[in-house]
Amino acid sequence: MQEIDLGKATLFAIVDSQTTFEASLLTPEYRDALPGGRFPGVVQTWLLLAGDKKILFDTGWGTHKGHHGTTVRVLEERGIAPKDITDIVMTHLDNDHVGGLASNGKASFPKATLHVNALENTAWMEECVGRSQDAIAFTRSMVRPYTVQTFAYDAEVLPGIRARDAHGHTPGHTVYDLDFGGKKMAIVGDIMHIAPVQLRFPGACTSYDLDVTAAAASRLATFRRLARDRMLMGGMHFPEVGYVYEHADGAFSLE
Ligand SMILES: [Zn+2]
Repeated sequence: MQEIDLGKATLFAIVDSQTTFEASLLTPEYRDALPGGRFPGVVQTWLLLAGDKKILFDTGWGTHKGHHGTTVRVLEERGIAPKDITDIVMTHLDNDHVGGLASNGKASFPKATLHVNALENTAWMEECVGRSQDAIAFTRSMVRPYTVQTFAYDAEVLPGIRARDAHGHTPGHTVYDLDFGGKKMAIVGDIMHIAPVQLRFPGACTSYDLDVTAAAASRLATFRRLARDRMLMGGMHFPEVGYVYEHADGAFSLE
Protein backbone atom coordinates (compact mmCIF):
# COMPACT_ATOMS: atom_id res chain seq x y z
CA MET A 1 0.00 0.00 0.00
CA GLN A 2 1.48 3.31 -1.10
CA GLU A 3 2.10 5.54 1.95
CA ILE A 4 2.52 9.32 1.82
CA ASP A 5 3.80 11.33 4.79
CA LEU A 6 1.94 14.67 4.90
CA GLY A 7 3.41 15.95 8.17
CA LYS A 8 0.84 15.55 10.94
CA ALA A 9 -1.11 12.99 8.89
CA THR A 10 -0.35 9.92 6.81
CA LEU A 11 -2.19 9.00 3.64
CA PHE A 12 -2.47 5.49 2.21
CA ALA A 13 -3.58 4.59 -1.31
CA ILE A 14 -5.77 1.49 -1.48
CA VAL A 15 -6.26 -0.19 -4.85
CA ASP A 16 -9.85 -1.36 -4.41
CA SER A 17 -9.96 -3.07 -7.82
CA GLN A 18 -8.50 -3.02 -11.32
CA THR A 19 -10.38 -1.79 -14.36
CA THR A 20 -9.86 -1.08 -18.05
CA PHE A 21 -10.86 2.11 -19.82
CA GLU A 22 -11.44 1.87 -23.58
CA ALA A 23 -10.48 4.66 -25.99
CA SER A 24 -14.10 4.66 -27.19
CA LEU A 25 -15.00 6.45 -23.91
CA LEU A 26 -13.09 9.51 -25.12
CA THR A 27 -14.55 12.30 -27.21
CA PRO A 28 -13.90 11.14 -30.81
CA GLU A 29 -11.10 13.56 -31.73
CA TYR A 30 -8.90 12.18 -28.93
CA ARG A 31 -9.41 8.43 -29.42
CA ASP A 32 -6.30 8.00 -31.57
CA ALA A 33 -4.19 9.56 -28.80
CA LEU A 34 -4.42 6.38 -26.70
CA PRO A 35 -1.87 3.82 -27.93
CA GLY A 36 -3.39 0.35 -28.04
CA GLY A 37 -6.91 1.70 -27.57
CA ARG A 38 -7.24 0.75 -23.91
CA PHE A 39 -5.83 1.96 -20.61
CA PRO A 40 -5.37 -0.17 -17.48
CA GLY A 41 -6.84 1.92 -14.67
CA VAL A 42 -7.76 1.30 -11.07
CA VAL A 43 -10.60 1.98 -8.68
CA GLN A 44 -8.83 3.53 -5.74
CA THR A 45 -9.77 4.63 -2.25
CA TRP A 46 -7.64 6.51 0.28
CA LEU A 47 -7.15 6.18 4.02
CA LEU A 48 -6.01 9.24 5.95
CA LEU A 49 -4.81 8.90 9.52
CA ALA A 50 -4.87 12.35 11.14
CA GLY A 51 -4.81 12.63 14.95
CA ASP A 52 -7.71 10.59 16.29
CA LYS A 53 -9.47 10.58 12.91
CA LYS A 54 -9.48 7.64 10.53
CA ILE A 55 -10.84 9.02 7.30
CA LEU A 56 -11.72 7.24 4.06
CA PHE A 57 -11.99 9.02 0.74
CA ASP A 58 -14.62 7.18 -1.33
CA THR A 59 -15.32 3.47 -0.92
CA GLY A 60 -14.97 1.82 -4.34
CA TRP A 61 -17.44 -0.76 -5.60
CA GLY A 62 -17.69 -2.88 -2.47
CA THR A 63 -19.00 -6.31 -3.34
CA HIS A 64 -21.88 -5.13 -5.51
CA LYS A 65 -22.58 -5.80 -9.18
CA GLY A 66 -19.99 -8.58 -9.47
CA HIS A 67 -17.12 -6.57 -7.96
CA HIS A 68 -14.73 -7.68 -5.26
CA GLY A 69 -13.57 -4.43 -3.69
CA THR A 70 -10.65 -4.91 -1.33
CA THR A 71 -10.90 -1.75 0.81
CA VAL A 72 -12.33 -3.39 3.94
CA ARG A 73 -9.87 -6.28 3.74
CA VAL A 74 -6.89 -3.94 3.30
CA LEU A 75 -8.03 -1.86 6.29
CA GLU A 76 -8.37 -4.98 8.41
CA GLU A 77 -4.87 -6.07 7.43
CA ARG A 78 -3.68 -2.78 8.93
CA GLY A 79 -5.64 -3.47 12.12
CA ILE A 80 -8.43 -1.01 11.28
CA ALA A 81 -11.96 -2.37 11.71
CA PRO A 82 -14.87 -0.82 9.76
CA LYS A 83 -16.23 0.61 13.03
CA ASP A 84 -12.95 2.49 13.55
CA ILE A 85 -13.53 4.70 10.50
CA THR A 86 -14.67 8.08 11.84
CA ASP A 87 -15.42 9.89 8.57
CA ILE A 88 -15.96 9.14 4.90
CA VAL A 89 -15.32 12.02 2.54
CA MET A 90 -16.84 11.62 -0.94
CA THR A 91 -15.41 13.10 -4.14
CA HIS A 92 -18.84 12.45 -5.72
CA LEU A 93 -21.62 9.85 -5.62
CA ASP A 94 -21.10 7.68 -8.73
CA ASN A 95 -21.68 3.95 -8.17
CA ASP A 96 -17.97 2.99 -8.27
CA HIS A 97 -17.34 5.37 -5.35
CA VAL A 98 -20.32 4.66 -3.09
CA GLY A 99 -20.50 0.87 -3.53
CA GLY A 100 -18.49 0.12 -0.40
CA LEU A 101 -20.74 2.20 1.86
CA ALA A 102 -23.40 -0.39 2.66
CA SER A 103 -24.65 -3.89 2.16
CA ASN A 104 -28.09 -5.33 2.84
CA GLY A 105 -29.30 -1.86 3.83
CA LYS A 106 -26.74 -1.53 6.62
CA ALA A 107 -23.81 0.86 6.87
CA SER A 108 -20.53 -0.99 6.35
CA PHE A 109 -18.77 1.72 8.42
CA PRO A 110 -21.30 2.07 11.25
CA LYS A 111 -19.63 4.92 13.18
CA ALA A 112 -18.67 7.07 10.21
CA THR A 113 -20.09 10.47 9.29
CA LEU A 114 -20.52 10.81 5.52
CA HIS A 115 -19.33 14.12 4.04
CA VAL A 116 -20.85 15.06 0.66
CA ASN A 117 -20.83 18.32 -1.27
CA ALA A 118 -24.31 19.87 -0.99
CA LEU A 119 -24.79 20.19 -4.76
CA GLU A 120 -23.80 16.56 -5.27
CA ASN A 121 -26.07 15.38 -2.50
CA THR A 122 -29.09 17.24 -3.91
CA ALA A 123 -28.39 16.09 -7.48
CA TRP A 124 -28.42 12.40 -6.52
CA MET A 125 -30.74 12.25 -3.54
CA GLU A 126 -33.45 14.73 -4.62
CA GLU A 127 -33.05 15.33 -8.35
CA CYS A 128 -32.35 13.05 -11.31
CA VAL A 129 -28.65 13.58 -11.94
CA GLY A 130 -27.93 12.50 -15.54
CA ARG A 131 -27.28 8.84 -14.71
CA SER A 132 -29.57 5.84 -15.24
CA GLN A 133 -32.51 5.17 -12.90
CA ASP A 134 -30.70 2.02 -11.74
CA ALA A 135 -27.54 3.94 -10.91
CA ILE A 136 -29.48 6.59 -9.00
CA ALA A 137 -31.40 3.97 -7.00
CA PHE A 138 -28.16 2.17 -6.16
CA THR A 139 -26.44 5.33 -4.93
CA ARG A 140 -29.46 6.30 -2.82
CA SER A 141 -29.49 2.88 -1.18
CA MET A 142 -25.78 3.19 -0.34
CA VAL A 143 -26.07 6.68 1.15
CA ARG A 144 -29.31 6.22 3.10
CA PRO A 145 -27.90 4.33 6.14
CA TYR A 146 -25.63 7.31 6.94
CA THR A 147 -25.88 10.68 8.60
CA VAL A 148 -24.84 12.99 5.78
CA GLN A 149 -22.93 16.17 6.53
CA THR A 150 -23.07 18.50 3.53
CA PHE A 151 -20.71 21.36 2.78
CA ALA A 152 -20.05 24.03 0.13
CA TYR A 153 -16.98 24.43 -2.07
CA ASP A 154 -14.02 26.06 -0.28
CA ALA A 155 -15.25 24.83 3.11
CA GLU A 156 -12.86 23.07 5.47
CA VAL A 157 -14.63 19.72 5.64
CA LEU A 158 -12.44 18.44 8.46
CA PRO A 159 -9.27 20.01 9.93
CA GLY A 160 -6.62 20.03 7.17
CA ILE A 161 -9.07 19.00 4.41
CA ARG A 162 -10.49 21.71 2.15
CA ALA A 163 -13.10 21.14 -0.60
CA ARG A 164 -12.39 22.62 -4.04
CA ASP A 165 -14.79 23.16 -6.92
CA ALA A 166 -14.21 20.54 -9.63
CA HIS A 167 -17.74 20.18 -10.98
CA GLY A 168 -18.50 18.86 -14.43
CA HIS A 169 -17.88 15.14 -14.12
CA THR A 170 -20.90 15.33 -11.81
CA PRO A 171 -22.70 18.46 -10.51
CA GLY A 172 -20.87 18.53 -7.17
CA HIS A 173 -17.65 16.69 -7.98
CA THR A 174 -15.06 17.80 -5.43
CA VAL A 175 -11.27 17.87 -5.19
CA TYR A 176 -9.81 17.82 -1.67
CA ASP A 177 -6.70 19.76 -0.68
CA LEU A 178 -4.81 18.16 2.19
CA ASP A 179 -2.57 20.37 4.33
CA PHE A 180 -1.12 18.86 7.49
CA GLY A 181 2.04 20.92 7.72
CA GLY A 182 4.19 18.76 5.43
CA LYS A 183 3.90 18.11 1.72
CA LYS A 184 0.63 19.43 0.30
CA MET A 185 -1.51 17.09 -1.75
CA ALA A 186 -4.83 17.04 -3.59
CA ILE A 187 -7.12 14.05 -4.01
CA VAL A 188 -8.70 14.80 -7.36
CA GLY A 189 -11.38 12.09 -7.61
CA ASP A 190 -12.51 11.59 -11.21
CA ILE A 191 -10.83 14.66 -12.67
CA MET A 192 -9.54 12.21 -15.29
CA HIS A 193 -10.06 8.56 -16.27
CA ILE A 194 -7.53 7.97 -19.05
CA ALA A 195 -4.50 9.70 -17.57
CA PRO A 196 -2.05 9.51 -20.50
CA VAL A 197 -4.51 11.24 -22.84
CA GLN A 198 -6.16 13.68 -20.44
CA LEU A 199 -2.87 14.96 -18.99
CA ARG A 200 -1.66 15.64 -22.52
CA PHE A 201 -4.99 17.05 -23.67
CA PRO A 202 -6.94 18.43 -20.66
CA GLY A 203 -9.79 19.27 -23.04
CA ALA A 204 -10.39 15.55 -23.68
CA CYS A 205 -13.45 14.25 -21.83
CA THR A 206 -14.92 10.79 -21.44
CA SER A 207 -18.57 9.85 -21.75
CA TYR A 208 -18.58 9.58 -17.94
CA ASP A 209 -18.39 13.39 -17.70
CA LEU A 210 -21.95 14.71 -17.38
CA ASP A 211 -21.10 18.29 -18.40
CA VAL A 212 -18.10 18.10 -20.73
CA THR A 213 -17.50 21.86 -20.91
CA ALA A 214 -17.40 22.22 -17.13
CA ALA A 215 -15.42 18.98 -16.68
CA ALA A 216 -12.73 20.14 -19.11
CA ALA A 217 -12.54 23.56 -17.44
CA SER A 218 -12.26 21.96 -13.98
CA ARG A 219 -9.56 19.57 -15.22
CA LEU A 220 -7.45 22.38 -16.67
CA ALA A 221 -7.93 24.64 -13.62
CA THR A 222 -7.05 21.82 -11.21
CA PHE A 223 -3.90 20.79 -13.12
CA ARG A 224 -2.77 24.44 -13.34
CA ARG A 225 -3.41 25.11 -9.65
CA LEU A 226 -1.56 22.01 -8.49
CA ALA A 227 1.39 22.78 -10.80
CA ARG A 228 1.55 26.38 -9.57
CA ASP A 229 1.20 25.50 -5.87
CA ARG A 230 3.58 22.48 -6.01
CA MET A 231 0.99 20.04 -4.71
CA LEU A 232 1.03 16.28 -5.12
CA MET A 233 -1.86 14.81 -7.08
CA GLY A 234 -3.55 11.46 -6.54
CA GLY A 235 -6.92 10.29 -7.80
CA MET A 236 -9.38 7.45 -7.95
CA HIS A 237 -8.65 5.90 -11.37
CA PHE A 238 -4.87 6.24 -11.86
CA PRO A 239 -2.37 4.68 -9.43
CA GLU A 240 0.45 7.25 -9.75
CA VAL A 241 1.04 10.01 -7.22
CA GLY A 242 3.25 12.88 -8.28
CA TYR A 243 3.73 16.56 -8.93
CA VAL A 244 1.99 18.15 -11.90
CA TYR A 245 4.05 19.99 -14.51
CA GLU A 246 2.70 22.28 -17.21
CA HIS A 247 4.59 22.27 -20.51
CA ALA A 248 4.90 24.99 -23.14
CA ASP A 249 2.63 23.14 -25.61
CA GLY A 250 -0.26 23.08 -23.10
CA ALA A 251 0.28 19.46 -22.06
CA PHE A 252 0.75 18.40 -18.43
CA SER A 253 2.75 15.56 -16.92
CA LEU A 254 2.63 13.80 -13.56
CA GLU A 255 6.09 13.03 -12.16
ZN1 LIG B 1 -15.21 6.85 -10.88
